[in-house]
Amino acid sequence: MKLQKDHDRCIGAGQCVRTDPKIFDQDDDGLVQILVEHPRGADEAAAHKAVFICPAKALSLVEE
Ligand code: SF4
Repeated sequence: MKLQKDHDRCIGAGQCVRTDPKIFDQDDDGLVQILVEHPRGADEAAAHKAVFICPAKALSLVEE
């Protein structure tokens, strides 16, 4: 699975970073930065959670 972001949708709410700061960060404008593009195991579970809770629907996990 590959983790993707849509910067045009991100509103900088930071829920993803609070879900797992190993996987997500925010840039100086507060927009999401993905630190782990191919999460596995527990990281994949955390990525799924972040996709689910993002209020702007700016994250997605896609099959490769
Ligand atoms: S991706 Fe979603 S949860 Fe993460 S900073 Fe952007 S809007 Fe917030």
